[in-house]
Parts: sequence; C-alpha cells; structure tokens
Amino acid sequence: MRKLEIYGSPVLRERAKPVAEINGSVVALAQDMRETMHAFSGVGLAGNQVGVLLRIITVLHPEKKEDLVVINPEIAFAGEEKEIGEEGCLSIPEIYGKVERARQILVRGMDLKGREVEILAEGLFARILQHEIDHLDGVLFVDRLHPAKRLLLSGKLKKLVRGGVAQT
Ligand code: ZN
Repeated sequence: MRKLEIYGSPVLRERAKPVAEINGSVVALAQDMRETMHAFSGVGLAGNQVGVLLRIITVLHPEKKEDLVVINPEIAFAGEEKEIGEEGCLSIPEIYGKVERARQILVRGMDLKGREVEILAEGLFARILQHEIDHLDGVLFVDRLHPAKRLLLSGKLKKLVRGGVAQT
C-alpha cells in the first residue's frame, strides 16, 4: 500500500510523464496502486495520487467488479452526449459534487504486458476513466464543478490544504 496524496499536495497539480518502459518497478507500482485503491474502497487511482508522476491509472469496472491497469491512457474519442453525475475523490475526502462528462469514450493505452488496449466505456465507467485521466494532467474534479458549488466548498477545501481532515 502507498500513502495517498491529499488536496493541497503539489504533486496533484503536476502533469505526469508517459511510462517509457514497463519494468519491474512499474509493475510493482501498479500492484501497490490496486491494493491502495481497494484498501480505501475507491473506484480509481492515478499515479499522482500516490506521489508518482507517471501516466498510470487503476480503475474498477463498476459492473464487472474487476480492476484494470492502464498505462499511458489517452481519450481517443469522446462522444458529444454529456452526462452529469456525482463524483468524489480519495485525494479530496468528504467532498462530493456534480460534474459533467462525456457519456461515452474510447480510451487507448497499454496493459502491464505492453500490449495496446482499447476500452470503450460509457456511463459510470466512462466517468471514472475521465476522472483518473484528468489526474494525470493535474486536473481535479473540483475544478470542473459549477463555480457556485466550488465557492460553497472553498472553506472545506482550505481545511484539507491545512491537513485538517483525516484521510479515512
Ligand atoms: Zn480522484
């Protein structure tokens, strides 16, 4: 398991670098990320959230209940239809809000064996993937909230920066 980076940590605001080679440390990182995601009952985790600026995400398929590691994920296609849904984030505990996302996306990346993978996702699964890929670009779901909602949450967010809220 790895330590989670919490809102206010600069690493959450940085752009992660592509994984150049899938070596032992990348495989170990993926395994640790999976375990960390499950330990915190999350549905997704990005490298930045465990303090590693590499483009790697783990996601939990909401129906199949299996987890998936995607290396260097990219949104190859996003449908025009949007959907609004509530999101939270392991790095921003106790804060939730509605975010508009593409309902359907196609993600391209690699698996841990270096094979190219394509994932066609919709609904909640598409939302999770978009949320995690955002992390790799230093973008957090609170950035995508309605400005009025963000203002409403600003006090809670400031508390997180000061480390005022426990991780669990
Ligand atoms: Zn998140």
